[in-house]
Amino acid sequence: MPELPEVEALASFLRGCAVGRVVARVDAPGIHVLKTYDPPVTSLAGLSIENVARHGKFLDLTVGGLHLVVHLARAGWLHWRESLPSAPPRMGKGPLGVRVHLDDGSGFDLTEAGTQKRLAVYVVRDAHVVPGVARLGIDPLSEEFTEAALAGLLAGVRSQVKGVLTDQSLIAGLGNAYSDEVLWEVGLSPFKPAGNLAGEEVTRLHGVIVHTLREAVRRADGLAAGKLKAEKKSGLSVHGRTGLPCPRCGDTVREVSFATKSLQYCPTCQTGGQPLADRRLSRLLK
Ligand SMILES: [Zn+2]
Repeated sequence: MPELPEVEALASFLRGCAVGRVVARVDAPGIHVLKTYDPPVTSLAGLSIENVARHGKFLDLTVGGLHLVVHLARAGWLHWRESLPSAPPRMGKGPLGVRVHLDDGSGFDLTEAGTQKRLAVYVVRDAHVVPGVARLGIDPLSEEFTEAALAGLLAGVRSQVKGVLTDQSLIAGLGNAYSDEVLWEVGLSPFKPAGNLAGEEVTRLHGVIVHTLREAVRRADGLAAGKLKAEKKSGLSVHGRTGLPCPRCGDTVREVSFATKSLQYCPTCQTGGQPLADRRLSRLLK
């Protein structure tokens, strides 16, 4: 799933190749991805792309005073195409949700792999009317994300720190992968209650969140949309690396599985050497 660094890089990439272009046509073969109908997505035709911004994990293209807001969710992606076929795509079937043709023949496809159907596209007059955008908490790369602000979010919270870091209404843009990386870097168990963190742990957590995201943005910046996934994967130390050695201590990276996703951690670095109970497994054994 694209998180803050990848969405930031996509925004930056589009600023370079789409801003200033006029939308020639919009095809929406995956009608279910459209979450708004007024104004219709076809009303973008003839308008020029003025800016591309990011809100948390949402991409926001300003198009002639309207906003094309995209949430890629877990399996969605934006494919930039130097040359798009002019024939209209077939409706309904396949991964293509929305295709935006630009005036020079280039454009982009918004696609979703698999059957999840969580890619969401909105055409609105103000990006903040999109419920997911309206709910967003502090952007961790903004000036408001101070150590005191993080301490405030964590104080008195009984939820596990992993849940707090990935709650978009608290911190906007951090997801499953980068939260695993941050917790590993700090040496915290993902299940530690957020309110129990010592002052010194909060200080380190703050520093590591900012550093991890800035580094990922720096590595991803300037890459074409098609290269971002590989770049993200190559920069990860524990996330998605179950069974492989921890790059710091050599212990085996383990995972905890949930219904539709899993988190990864290093027992030696994060949980005093104790493997965490796999909740899916524990439930089966009850
Ligand atoms: Zn380790």
